[in-house]
Amino acid sequence: MSLQRPKGTQDHLPDGSPKLRADLSASAFSHVTRTAARVLERGGAQWMETPLFEYADLVQRGVGSSTDIVRKEMFTVTYAGEHGGYILRPEGTAGIVRAYLENGLKQLPSPLKLWTHGPMFRAENVQQGRLRQFHQVDYEVIGSALSLVDAEAIWLMVQVVQELGLTGARIKLGSVGDPADRERYDAYLRQLFTPHAERLSADSQDRLTRNPMRILDSKSKDDQALIVELGVEPMLNFLGEEASAHFQEVRGHLEAWGVPYDLDPSIVRGLDYYRRTAWELHHQGVGAKSALGGGGRYDGLAKELGGPETPAVGWAFGIERLLIAMDAEGLKWPLTAGPLVYVAALDAEQVDPAARVALGIRAVARAEFAYRALKPGNVFREAERRTAVYAALIGSEEAGRGSVMLKHLSSGVQREVPVAELNALLLSDLFSEMPSPDSAPTPPALETR
Ligand code: AMP
Repeated sequence: MSLQRPKGTQDHLPDGSPKLRADLSASAFSHVTRTAARVLERGGAQWMETPLFEYADLVQRGVGSSTDIVRKEMFTVTYAGEHGGYILRPEGTAGIVRAYLENGLKQLPSPLKLWTHGPMFRAENVQQGRLRQFHQVDYEVIGSALSLVDAEAIWLMVQVVQELGLTGARIKLGSVGDPADRERYDAYLRQLFTPHAERLSADSQDRLTRNPMRILDSKSKDDQALIVELGVEPMLNFLGEEASAHFQEVRGHLEAWGVPYDLDPSIVRGLDYYRRTAWELHHQGVGAKSALGGGGRYDGLAKELGGPETPAVGWAFGIERLLIAMDAEGLKWPLTAGPLVYVAALDAEQVDPAARVALGIRAVARAEFAYRALKPGNVFREAERRTAVYAALIGSEEAGRGSVMLKHLSSGVQREVPVAELNALLLSDLFSEMPSPDSAPTPPALETR
């Protein structure tokens, strides 16, 4: 039996695990998704979920059959030796748009803002920040072609990152134009690359016939060198009047709201259903080539999937990459469950009463109790191992007076507190804000005995 997880996957570990990094911490993950929930739901987005596996055909159309994802990175699902015709989802948008069309969500107030998060699967070459099972937060707005909606989507993406405390993330903004602009650009790229086709990687030779714009996205160094050598003009130079006006509007909104961004004329979205605004979110801590996230308008996708033409815009960021960026900036995350009170009996008769005190504390806070009587030194040791904020000790004397001995562990301050007053005291002292692991709440003003 192998005790190894599959290549390119990670365990999300409990707090206190040895050598815990943010991208392995279950608490850090939940901090990101809770922050995203707060920001996106305040922005009017509603939570939804779609299956982890979908028909392969949906994903082929939804992601694009010329993409690396579809051509090389799909995990297919088989059961009982049969090929199910399903694949594990490599991204969230195709499933959400499928669900929108299938469930008649068009009837909800428009534009409909949706968000989700969860695991995505791509059989990629594994390296730092590039996994086979990774996790995304996705935000999609379906039903509006207005530039204001694009700008709001970008604002929300930036806001999530800011509320996590990241300061080094930057938006790179571009536009991939309308279909007619793309056709002109494709023709230009074909003309430019065809005489040099033999110098392109095998993948890019294939792209040249199927979808030349994807050459610009190639990971091959030789391809990138040729792109520089040929002085390839960016898509942005090929925008028609309408796409150009839309792009100026998006930029105008962002500038009016004080959202900083860098213009990036070379952003590539090589698929037919991508229209107009396209952007990426970058951070130095993750490396120049790997984006924290990406977004764009995909007005042609619903039609590609068999529905009516429906304008839409959305983005996704990778949670693992975001956590790598947080580590690079030295940011901390709060414990998932909030600060802990550790309750223990000092003799066997008080084990049950001590447990009862802990059960009562759970009405207002996280509380654990020792399953057997402990000596005071051991109570403190166990409490500290669990990074508890308080230890509550109950011996026969405290029990006789209906109280506990409450010790604030980081300051060492302790006081006898009647059980009836315990929750009120904990509430006022502990929980105005969830403290991060290394910022325990300020010691309360307890008298020392
Ligand atoms: P994409 O759907 O390719 O635009 O990816 C959106 C974001 O998901 C990227 O910017 C990354 O943050 C994240 N992501 C994509 N692929 C991977 C991967 N293999 N491992 C980790 N994160 C990924």
